[in-house]
Amino acid sequence: MSSSAELDSVDGLARYRDLFLRSDDVVAYLDGNSLGRPLAASAARISAFIEEQWAGRLIRGWDESWLDLPIRIGDELGRVLLGAAAGQTTIGDSTTVLLYKLIRAAVDARPDRREIVVDRENFPTDRYVVEGIAAERGMTVHWVETAEDVVASHDTALVVLSHIAYRSGRLSDVATITAAAHDAGALILWDLCHSVGVAPVQLDEWEVDLAVGCTYKYLNGGPGSPAFAYVASNHQATLRQPIQGWLGSRAPFEMGQGYEAGAGIRGFLSGTPPILGMLAMQDMLALIDDVGLGAVRAKSIELTTFAIALADELLPDAVLATPRDPALRGSHITLDHDGFARIMPRLWERGVIPDFRRPNGIRLGLSPLSTSFAEVEVGVRAIAEELAV
Ligand SMILES: *Cc1c(COP(=O)(O)O)cnc(C)c1O
Repeated sequence: MSSSAELDSVDGLARYRDLFLRSDDVVAYLDGNSLGRPLAASAARISAFIEEQWAGRLIRGWDESWLDLPIRIGDELGRVLLGAAAGQTTIGDSTTVLLYKLIRAAVDARPDRREIVVDRENFPTDRYVVEGIAAERGMTVHWVETAEDVVASHDTALVVLSHIAYRSGRLSDVATITAAAHDAGALILWDLCHSVGVAPVQLDEWEVDLAVGCTYKYLNGGPGSPAFAYVASNHQATLRQPIQGWLGSRAPFEMGQGYEAGAGIRGFLSGTPPILGMLAMQDMLALIDDVGLGAVRAKSIELTTFAIALADELLPDAVLATPRDPALRGSHITLDHDGFARIMPRLWERGVIPDFRRPNGIRLGLSPLSTSFAEVEVGVRAIAEELAV
């Protein structure tokens, strides 16, 4: 195995690390899949926005540029990272709320079908929203263990899956699973929270119906930055989302009686967009566009490969919960060990910040543009040292 110093010295993306703000007390940040580091450009953008746009333009800003921002960024995100033609992506509410809106829209479009398929490995919010909507609509939840186990039938209205599983890091074959769902006449929604910005996505080519994803993970949008929704253009005229707010209506500023959905992706908006929350993600999007997602994915694979090799060597008692085949995993790995819960406070004190996932998993999220190989090594060594205490 090459040393982390060797890997860092030949890393073509190493120079981008200096574009991120960091603090000296953190020696290994291994949670970029939970909250990405801020770019220095974002600090400047936010401050300039407050002074020039908010203070300077005041309410005129809405007409001049802010109202279009969700769709402008959505189109850019679609072009750079989602393989989505313009007019199908918007930035809006939280991932949870967007899941609610799109899942409701999808099941209401298949009224003769009684079940929603979802996997137990999916993120809690995805499962909980599905359960809630099933109860609301008198439907049943058809549980499968992982995305690979999905079987859609003539009774399936919708399949809800994550492209990259939040705990195991398993990466699913979206095109194949989507085609199988369509063969059964079902719609499919893919959650891209752990793949957007770090793994290739081709929503149009894969014929995905619906997708959502976070922007505060690998898109470095900041705590609570709003999520995105993708609605394939062929569904926009028929799907109706349930939160009928004024900004998703046909003519918001007529303020008329009776809701009529806006055309296209606009109909999937609800209320006033959280503009401040949309600022930072634009810097990361521009950076990835510049670097190229192919290079980002290549480094992501090198980082996770290195982390697995180190864990094999230094943490022989830990169990790798992530696929060893790099083609089958995203940009994080999870190791299980019953001693991990005990050592988390000590790791944080040392400035080593991975993520703990119950019951016994440490998750190392490796954000290719801000993470060094040295950081991975410091982190895995610290875990081994604390386990030995
Ligand atoms: C992080 C994550 C979420 C988070 O949803 P929020 O509404 O932003 O809290 C949802 N789904 C998946 C798969 C995630 O990884």
